[in-house]
Amino acid sequence: MLQIYNTLTRRKDPFKPRHKKRVDIFVCGPTIYDYMHIGHAKTYVQFDVIVKYLRYKGYRAYYLQNVTDIDDKIIKRAQEKNIDPAKLAREFEGYYHDDEKKLGITSVTKYARATDYIKDIIKQTQALLKKGYAYKISDGYYYDITKFKDYGKLSGRTALGAEDAVSRIDESVAKKNKGDFCLWKFSKPDEPSWDTKIGRGRPGWHIEDTAITEKHFGPQYDIHGGARDLIFPHHEAEIAQMQAISDKSPMARFWIHTGFLTVDGKKMSKSLKNFITVDDALKNYDYKTLRFFYLSSHYHSPIDFTDESIKSAQHGLERLNDFIQYTKIHKKDNKELTQKTKQQFITAMDDDFDTVKAIAALFDFINICYKKNIGGKSAYKLLKKINTIFDIFTFKKPRIPQNITILVEQREKLREQKKWSEADQIRKKIQTLGFTVEDTDKGPIVKKLGIKLL
Ligand SMILES: [Zn+2]
Repeated sequence: MLQIYNTLTRRKDPFKPRHKKRVDIFVCGPTIYDYMHIGHAKTYVQFDVIVKYLRYKGYRAYYLQNVTDIDDKIIKRAQEKNIDPAKLAREFEGYYHDDEKKLGITSVTKYARATDYIKDIIKQTQALLKKGYAYKISDGYYYDITKFKDYGKLSGRTALGAEDAVSRIDESVAKKNKGDFCLWKFSKPDEPSWDTKIGRGRPGWHIEDTAITEKHFGPQYDIHGGARDLIFPHHEAEIAQMQAISDKSPMARFWIHTGFLTVDGKKMSKSLKNFITVDDALKNYDYKTLRFFYLSSHYHSPIDFTDESIKSAQHGLERLNDFIQYTKIHKKDNKELTQKTKQQFITAMDDDFDTVKAIAALFDFINICYKKNIGGKSAYKLLKKINTIFDIFTFKKPRIPQNITILVEQREKLREQKKWSEADQIRKKIQTLGFTVEDTDKGPIVKKLGIKLL
């Protein structure tokens, strides 16, 4: 039975969807004003694996993701670049989908742009006004957090702390309470706006999510996901909006949050120059290496991206890929052992999608196989099946390009002539081209790396 750690209850709860096998899942999508970085990618890859595992278990998962295409950040960036905010948003939305494709993220059923739900946002704002949760001041409509008694239940807090300085907070001197957030913002001249019954303006950030989920799922659904830094105030605000106007509680029955990614132990930031975009990362690492790196930690744990940690992921993945080739040569099959491993994999994934334990089971499996000369079809098939969820393995024998073969031959000649340092120079060159050469009794073996060693 699948157990999921639920931020709302602060424990692992047995997973049961509202409607038999149907799972409605919503994950906070990007604000499209900049490129996706490897921290965002961690969250989206981990949810990709979670949704693919749900489908593997036979659930019909409807994976909904919003795309924030109207926001202060977008407007600010567009002004800096002197272009139209809508144009900027469309451009980065395109890059976002390109990056997802490159990362093997293929599980999202529906992308919902905030600007396509203006009517629904107005409807919710009106409902909140009618019920007395919202009020109007000079710059827009705000939510009065003191009116909602459960405010703070998800995060265990109601006030902002110093660590929230980077979050999007709606600042207005006229607000009733410091923590009140904006539902509908009256636009300044030159800002994008929509003419509506409650005035010309644009949506606040939190309300787009509830407008989108209510439209597709109704006031209650199965899973809400996102990165940990969204718990407060973003997800707290969503709950306050939806549960104030509906008698269904909780809005989302399971809340799944992913841990942070740091680079060399530090939070990624442009000022620290340790900001790595997905595009940058994919210049140096194969997407499968990147996915394997993310899955090597539990989704709710933090993960530190360093030269060493990514190389270690690459080595681990190489061992698994080597085994795939081994299964083709060593045909001795052991179905019982494969079945046992499959069960261990499922047990690990059923325990709050524990990819760390699942991968450990695979390493145990290949160690036994090597020891007993076991390979064969059932092992190959198992890895193929797992790959429909993880998307990390390479099944085809990697093709070695001709320029690499030539370098390897040159190196062999130099080695025969005992010109070690020159031979070593060529080995390094081969590595910068994304391959590695191993010297064995039977001659050199060339392997493709998921990473370019610089
Ligand atoms: Zn969101």
